Amino acid sequence: MERKNILVTGGMGYIGSHTVIKLVEYGYNPIIIDNLANSSEKVLPRLEKITGTKIAFYKGDVCNREDVDKVLSENKIDAVIHFAGLKAVGESVQKPVEYYRNNLDSTLTLLEEMPKYGVKNIIFSSSATVYGTPTHVPLVESDPIGQATNPYGQTKIIQEGIFQDYCHVHPDFNVALLRYFNPIGAHASGLIGEAPNGIPNNLMPYVTQVAVGKRDHLSIFGDDYNTPDGTCIRDYIHVVDLAEGHVLTLKKLFENPGLVIYNLGTGKGTSVLELVHAYEKATGVKIPYVIAPRRAGDVEANYAATDKAEREIGFKAKYTVEDSCRDSNHWQQMNPNGYED
Ligand code: NAD
Ligand code: UDP
Repeated sequence: MERKNILVTGGMGYIGSHTVIKLVEYGYNPIIIDNLANSSEKVLPRLEKITGTKIAFYKGDVCNREDVDKVLSENKIDAVIHFAGLKAVGESVQKPVEYYRNNLDSTLTLLEEMPKYGVKNIIFSSSATVYGTPTHVPLVESDPIGQATNPYGQTKIIQEGIFQDYCHVHPDFNVALLRYFNPIGAHASGLIGEAPNGIPNNLMPYVTQVAVGKRDHLSIFGDDYNTPDGTCIRDYIHVVDLAEGHVLTLKKLFENPGLVIYNLGTGKGTSVLELVHAYEKATGVKIPYVIAPRRAGDVEANYAATDKAEREIGFKAKYTVEDSCRDSNHWQQMNPNGYED
């Protein structure tokens, strides 16, 4: 059977690159478009090394009609996985227009260009942030969309709305809105992983930089939350599990379900302190920390209800938080400066 071509926007980034590997493993042909706004061209040879295959890469901007047109006209695309987007919460507060322009324009451009080439399937990278401040956990896909606390979150809510509106009038179009919880970990090879610019905002990359001595300690933002140890609770999912969730979702899209929504998480909450202890246990590296004030806008606890994804696409996270810590640490030890030399 001919391999299906999957256009992966943002495929050079953290989650996209891991998904490219899973696509090859499952017999798909990934084709990447990425403008390298937040990634390195060094990812490509590493993906080729891991997969043992040549991977098609278009350096292009998904907001640019000609760039999208080029890749869609040169390949018969069966589905798009749309990772391309700007994702730093703090930066989105400083640069709202850039975030709205990039994140919304990329989605709109795809929705204008895909029909011209008869492409009817798309997976969109959404986020648990669309639930806003949870009134209960675990979060279920049917829970209402909440209030965004920053422009980044708002772009996700708006993009979900754009897909909903589009599907109302295009019943033959298939969209999966995947709401990710907290992706961490890295490919076991240590060749690809998360490489943030500057001071990491997210917990795991900060911890790994402490582990390799780039930062002297972690600041834990608040230990007076209403949780068992006082620190915030999140649902940390290994990026390789997350990548697999996309491939399982593709299979579902090819059954013409219309619009579907799935949480991709583990269903298990882990506190900041628990994560630090898991890291120390998995790696033997001590992570010094101090307790710092709460971070503005932080949600006390969130984790996913995973039943729907398990029932409908057969998704169940396999890796533990300790596995993720081991793999994140391996990646950071092998690449202390990320993709920079
Ligand atoms: P990432 O920054 O590592 O990857 C995104 C990629 O998209 C980068 O390679 C970047 O260069 C590219 N890109 C951005 N704008 C582009 C454009 N206009 N045209 C072409 N390429 C463009 O981020 P990631 O962590 O891999 O996240 C992927 C997606 O998942 C994003 O949409 C993000 O918002 C979403 N998401 C991420 C998380 C997380 O914690 N990492 C959580 C929930 C949702
Ligand atoms: N966190 C922390 N120190 C850091 C970075 C994050 O204590 O240097 C905490 C943060 O307050 C939150 C949790 O770790 O409770 C996860 O934060 P992250 O930014 O990774 O994910 P998000 O809050 O967006 O789910």
